[in-house]
Amino acid sequence: MSGMVFCRGCGKEIHSSAKACPHCGATQSTQTEGKKSRMAAVLFAFFLGGLGAHKFYLGKVGQGILYILFCWTFIPSIVAFIEFILYLCSSDEDFARKYG
Ligand SMILES: [Zn+2]
Repeated sequence: MSGMVFCRGCGKEIHSSAKACPHCGATQSTQTEGKKSRMAAVLFAFFLGGLGAHKFYLGKVGQGILYILFCWTFIPSIVAFIEFILYLCSSDEDFARKYG
């Protein structure tokens, strides 16, 4: 049956959307890659960071609009560059926990 996966803890079949196994309680969060790609956010922050593209990508639309409103000040570009480095330096798991 599609949509079923095997628990990483006990090996019993559980639904793929389950966050934790109902049999043994093992969390299943790393069975697939994060919902948001860290590399995509890194690239957005680097190339379009001054326009808040990475914020829109991560679902923080309000912040993204602020970036666009203030893009003429170049402050968003500076902030985006810092975020670019933060995204780049954080692990995929940290990134998924914060933004995924
Ligand atoms: Zn289990």
